[in-house]
Amino acid sequence: MTTPASPSRPSESLRLGRAAIRDIVPYASERTPCAADLSDNTNLFGAPPAALRELTTSGRDEITRYPGLHARRLREALADYAGVEPDQVVTGCGSDDVIDSAVRAFAEPGERLAYSDPTFTMIPVFARVNGVVPTPVRFASSGDIDPDALLATEARIIYICSPNNPTGSVATRRSVDRVIERAPGIVIIDEAYGEFTDGGRVSEAPTHHGVLVTRTLSKAFGMAGFRIGYGTGAAPLIHEIEKVRGPYKENAPAERAAACALREDVAWMRELATQAVQNRERFADALRANGLHPLRSAANFLLVPIQDAAMVARHMRERGIAVRPYPGLPGIGDALRVTIGPWSMMELALDALLSARATAVATRPVR
Ligand code: PMP
Repeated sequence: MTTPASPSRPSESLRLGRAAIRDIVPYASERTPCAADLSDNTNLFGAPPAALRELTTSGRDEITRYPGLHARRLREALADYAGVEPDQVVTGCGSDDVIDSAVRAFAEPGERLAYSDPTFTMIPVFARVNGVVPTPVRFASSGDIDPDALLATEARIIYICSPNNPTGSVATRRSVDRVIERAPGIVIIDEAYGEFTDGGRVSEAPTHHGVLVTRTLSKAFGMAGFRIGYGTGAAPLIHEIEKVRGPYKENAPAERAAACALREDVAWMRELATQAVQNRERFADALRANGLHPLRSAANFLLVPIQDAAMVARHMRERGIAVRPYPGLPGIGDALRVTIGPWSMMELALDALLSARATAVATRPVR
């Protein structure tokens, strides 16, 4: 038996990558099983019944042959759900893939991608891997996006996340309109959490020349494992993204099961999204009763400013509860992002958070 070649030393492998990606740290997420994983904003109530049923019927052809070239069935189901035409929808391997493809489609290397900071952590990464310059700007003091600060960057792409991950805040309609009216290039509006609030723009996107609204089946719809995201926009804009994204990005069983869920399980999804919103407010009240100050959220998670967030998250994990720590967020400081699920999970999360906080305080070095 031959010994496998030893992995190259970091310095060697770094030299192989483009300069722009040398200090990118690959996305990491602790995935070992725990009692309640409240770290990734997925639907903790379960999977859509029609999708579960459809998954059991995969045939041989679906496994041996390529899936449909451009996910036609899925696009039709998404178009009906979103209130647009099928040629106004692009799908991808998660909305990650749609956003990444859009950056590559619309920005030349060296151009800028502007966003309000803090936001979805993959956005600066998508910019950099595509040779584009990530350009963060501050939120307004009201918590809204600052349209003029975004426009002042003259960025080729302006990215707006609403509700925003990790803060949960929504961008006001007025501010987003101002960006759309004056942006010199493309505006991407990320509505990954759009099902948890009103007023999204998924059906309106095609009426604009350069607006892409992205959404996902990973969150409210409970199908993160299928890796299906989509974007809506005017047909010519969608066509450009499709060229860059390439064919066969969804696997056949996932495409079929997701299309069925979009036809049959929308009421199921809405009911659980409503429960998540109710539990979010109840959980926020419980946190406030214990002296914490979660940010007002329009999504299925809460951002909770707390000292030594990384240490508190570690102690929570020892108690079987996973949450996502954010050290040193601009304008916020250390915070934990907690996904909202069934109330029994939130009770466990509250107990774990309070005792982890007490442990962190007790072991904090005296300064
Ligand atoms: N946008 C936002 C704001 C997100 O939080 C996420 C997932 N964390 C995504 C996009 C990507 O989700 P997916 O690729 O599963 O569709």
